[in-house]
Amino acid sequence: MKVIVVGGGWSGCAAALSAHKQGGEVTLIERADMLLGTGLVGGIMRNNGRFTATEEMIAMGGGEIFRLVDQNCLHRNIEFPKHRHASLYNVATMEPLVKRFLMEKEIRIHLSTRVEDVEMDGARMKAVIAKQGGDKVRFGGEVFIDTTGTAGPPSSCTKYGNGCVMCIIRCPSFGGRVSISAKAGVKEMIGRKGGQIGAMSGACKLFKESLSREIVDTLNRKGVAVIPIPPSAQAKGKLSFKACQQYALPEYEENIVLLNTGHAKLMAAFFPLEVLRVVPGFENARYEDPYAGGVGNSIRYVGMAPRDDALKVEGIENLFCAGEKAGLLVGHTEAIVTGVLAGYNAVRHVRREKPLILPSSLSIGDAIAYVRTEMNTEEGLGYKYTFSGSVYFEQMKGKGLYSTDVKEIEKRVDAAGLTRVFSKHIS
Ligand SMILES: Cc1cc2nc3c(=O)[nH]c(=O)nc-3n(C[C@H](O)[C@H](O)[C@H](O)COP(=O)(O)OP(=O)(O)OC[C@H]3O[C@@H](n4cnc5c(N)ncnc54)[C@H](O)[C@@H]3O)c2cc1C
Repeated sequence: MKVIVVGGGWSGCAAALSAHKQGGEVTLIERADMLLGTGLVGGIMRNNGRFTATEEMIAMGGGEIFRLVDQNCLHRNIEFPKHRHASLYNVATMEPLVKRFLMEKEIRIHLSTRVEDVEMDGARMKAVIAKQGGDKVRFGGEVFIDTTGTAGPPSSCTKYGNGCVMCIIRCPSFGGRVSISAKAGVKEMIGRKGGQIGAMSGACKLFKESLSREIVDTLNRKGVAVIPIPPSAQAKGKLSFKACQQYALPEYEENIVLLNTGHAKLMAAFFPLEVLRVVPGFENARYEDPYAGGVGNSIRYVGMAPRDDALKVEGIENLFCAGEKAGLLVGHTEAIVTGVLAGYNAVRHVRREKPLILPSSLSIGDAIAYVRTEMNTEEGLGYKYTFSGSVYFEQMKGKGLYSTDVKEIEKRVDAAGLTRVFSKHIS
């Protein structure tokens, strides 16, 4: 059972592990020289409803990656404006831990390998064709998973944003994102709100060394520092185009909210450097990601695949998807839980077994169905969906799905008959 996963972000890593646990012979292909994609600069976990989704996945037996992350957190159970019980992983040390973990499972990882084309037999994908160094390499498989995300390429960042700002995706060095769903002929969906196509990533990183000692001490001790922005330096109305609507709140416009993820994570899409340096403590501030964080940020959500609730891409017999490719889903947690389901269903597909669709009595199943339905409406294409805030967290609370009681979450999973479902066929 050859499973080919294209895209080594959080969703691809989770899909690869999940397919391996079901007995798949898994190849994971990533265009850059490191795994984790945008997860190389994120870090926030377990905030608000993400806690529930994480514990649901652990109870369903798909929690290995969450356990790895939990072990590599700099802060646990912290609060910042409108976000509770968050953990912050160390973005500098996370990737090698995940890579080693996957390699120990004998998942074949091909880094610096960019898929540029697909080979089809009617509606069936036969192979992906990648560029590896100067060579063209063919990866044939029985089932494929598109986890290429939605960040970039530079043409999108130029057309819909403020140009390439040299973010962690590093398109100029490794080549931009290529969607295998689009290459297979699938008409992808585009997130849009009013005149804005896609959305701008909502956070940057500053070098701690460039901030005042007082701010760094607070950050290291508490994990969070909230610094009021003088009114003259506040840029009102910048929040609406943010990808992370869970942080598009007045608190984030009137203050600089910093989180300690190893670097100082600045919870704003971008902040002109000369304005930032007016804020006390930021006189010497310097961006670590994106390098031109004073100018803009990456554009995302320009290419999502239409899919069903088993995460099979519509129109292609043997292609699944997860993470941002599976909808306007924001977040590592969202990428990991959809990755686990896509990997599981990909192997079931090869075995000709019925796919698993998670029920709406669990937040993960509810979110997967909710996002698909909402994305069929013009209004729904204007939102982003996450367990941690904005419209989906409201729906979660309204349906009584949000809980931080681990025993209660385990009972819910049990009532759905899904306890340890993702670990039943460990090879
Ligand atoms: C600056 C920033 C900060 C963030 N902070 C947080 C946070 O703190 N907490 C949180 O939960 N979420 C955060 N997010 C959102 C989160 O990172 C993403 O929603 C999630 O991790 C997406 O995972 P993914 O696997 O779907 O996509 P990606 O992370 O985009 O991964 C896709 C991968 O596919 C690869 N790829 C693309 N095309 C090809 C190809 N043709 N061949 C081979 N490989 C290919 C890419 O190189 C990339 O590694 C942040 C995002 C950004 C940009």
